Amino acid sequence: MVQFVKLRLSGFKSFVEPTELLIEPGTTAIVGPNGCGKSNLVEALRWVMGETSAKRLRGGEMEDVIFGGTATRPARSLAEVTITLDNADRLAPVAFNDQDLLEVSRRIERDRGSLYRINGREVRARDVQLLFADAASGAQSTAIVSQGRVGALINARPGDRRHLLEEAAGITGLHSRRHEAELR
Ligand code: ATP
Ligand code: MG
Repeated sequence: MVQFVKLRLSGFKSFVEPTELLIEPGTTAIVGPNGCGKSNLVEALRWVMGETSAKRLRGGEMEDVIFGGTATRPARSLAEVTITLDNADRLAPVAFNDQDLLEVSRRIERDRGSLYRINGREVRARDVQLLFADAASGAQSTAIVSQGRVGALINARPGDRRHLLEEAAGITGLHSRRHEAELR
């Protein structure tokens, strides 16, 4: 799959100031005190990959990902997250596969919704979701298990569990592609 290289956030949840995080090969953990933003980082990753559910990002509506202000800092009006991917192995979908690095970004402004870009080119949410569906690493992937979701996995209904197994086997992306093909 394409490798994650760098995550940039600005105005996303508690990351009000522009923040850059290098994702070195072999990174296995983010550590820090309670409330420092560990889960927010993982949610930023999931959000830029095309998450559509505000609830899965612990919010009521999608705009809740924008920094909401504190006693000392005013709220922001937009949030932006960019993930840089290494495409040296040429595993990205054909439309983007001549590029060594892919920069996928998502931006949300209050009352304006989300805007996605791949290497500066405006794309649909679906394009971003498919890019990551192929890599079996998408926003809904079993590779990302939120805090408190372990119990839900254990108690999943058989149909839901099958979906999880399909994802773990890496064939959900193929289902998405087949569905897209049928629509055309
Ligand atoms: P834990 O170890 O308890 O799991 P954590 O490191 O995962 O903690 P997060 O849940 O990522 O912490 O961060 C929580 C902090 O982010 C809280 O202080 C919360 O107020 C802040 N936060 C979340 N959303 C926003 C927002 N939209 N605007 C401002 N701050 C926010
Ligand atoms: Mg947490």
